[in-house]
Amino acid sequence: MTGTAGVVIVGAGQAGCETAVTLRAKGFAGPITVIGDEHGVPYQRPPLSKAFLAASYDDDSIILRPAEFYESRGITLLSGHLATAIDRSRRHLELEGRSPLAYDTLVLATGARNRRLSLPGADAQGVHYLRTLTEAQKLQEKLKSADGRQVVIIGGGFIGLEVAAAARKHGADVTVLMSRDRPMARSVSLPVARYFEQQHRRHGVRLVANSAVRSISAPSGQADGVVTADGKRYSAGIIVVGIGVDPNVELAVTAGLAINGGVVVDSTLRTSDSRIFAIGDCAAFPTQSGLRRIESIQTCVEHARAVAAAIVGAGCDYDKVPWFWTDQFDSKLQMAGLIEGYDSTVVRGDPLSGSFSVLCFADGELIAVESVNRPRDHMAARKLLAARIPVSILEAADEGIELKDLIRVGAVV
Ligand code: NAP
Repeated sequence: MTGTAGVVIVGAGQAGCETAVTLRAKGFAGPITVIGDEHGVPYQRPPLSKAFLAASYDDDSIILRPAEFYESRGITLLSGHLATAIDRSRRHLELEGRSPLAYDTLVLATGARNRRLSLPGADAQGVHYLRTLTEAQKLQEKLKSADGRQVVIIGGGFIGLEVAAAARKHGADVTVLMSRDRPMARSVSLPVARYFEQQHRRHGVRLVANSAVRSISAPSGQADGVVTADGKRYSAGIIVVGIGVDPNVELAVTAGLAINGGVVVDSTLRTSDSRIFAIGDCAAFPTQSGLRRIESIQTCVEHARAVAAAIVGAGCDYDKVPWFWTDQFDSKLQMAGLIEGYDSTVVRGDPLSGSFSVLCFADGELIAVESVNRPRDHMAARKLLAARIPVSILEAADEGIELKDLIRVGAVV
């Protein structure tokens, strides 16, 4: 897929930037352009809801690479530009306020955006979202002086819990309103959810289960509380909303590419137009459990590397085990595989000790491993899952056998 127009990448997040950098590292010599709608140098998102909010990071320490790095490798960064349409027949990408860019290969790394609350008071001042650096800076500024103030968080997912932990570090009085009976219900098994629930309670976070938000109270335009469907009112000086994301698929939709919960790609990450790839949070790709969109930085990076290899003619089917992590208080949770559909679990170690792993099985097959403060289990789990090594429930439960010992000779890892 070489030509004179080169590769154009829409999206300057981790997936887009990694694609550009890996392409050069793999010897791609043509033009590479990365377009990002945010201003400034591309940065890492994972710290924004963790160390950045806890104020131990500054803006400079979260950039992916300095601007000179891209210049030195002949990668053109167009920050603060919005791609508005793809002209597939002419292989042009249209940009707001600029002439169109020609491409030989287009990579859609458009990511996802936060779901917004849609209820009375939702647009009031003092209602925060967290995805971009600008949003994180605003929230960090508020939390710095949050000692003793009431912070109400809507949503008990990753953002909700990580922000809760950061807000407690600043001395805030924190309440999390969860739509389900436990935190991170979409992403972690029951034992892990219960462990984190206890950690948050132990650190003084008030977790409210099965709570539906009805309105934000903002008598003078400034939010001062959250009202739930059961009529309760939670006073709040700061409100943070973390209720999930929707993929940015508009460019792909208007270009007539296949969509199914994300931009549909095949096992080589090509969309229904073979000149266009889609990667990261916006891409719905084939996995062992069907077409999936995975919101994880690791998937962004692995997708980027796979696409760069495909563009230079060294591609192969994408078949990586997804993994994730979250830091909350003193607990680092690392997850390998997806828990969806699990029907039984084996716990190794003791959750009361703060160091344990949960092995999740579906029909007797190991599908995911969640490790809390057990990095060795996590590393072994990734290898076990990648090589699809059968692990019986009995083996899993035998703590005399280390997980790494189950990676048998001859396994492809
Ligand atoms: P998330 O992890 O999907 O969690 C969203 C939570 O909000 C879910 O528990 C969801 O409950 C709940 N919810 C949905 N609608 C709601 C409503 N109207 N009222 C109250 N709760 C509602 O998403 P997130 O926490 O917003 O994070 C945003 C993105 O950043 C995700 O892609 C996430 O993976 C990523 N992120 C990842 C990490 C990490 O991997 N460590 C850290 C931060 C952010 P239901 O399950 O019932 O829908």
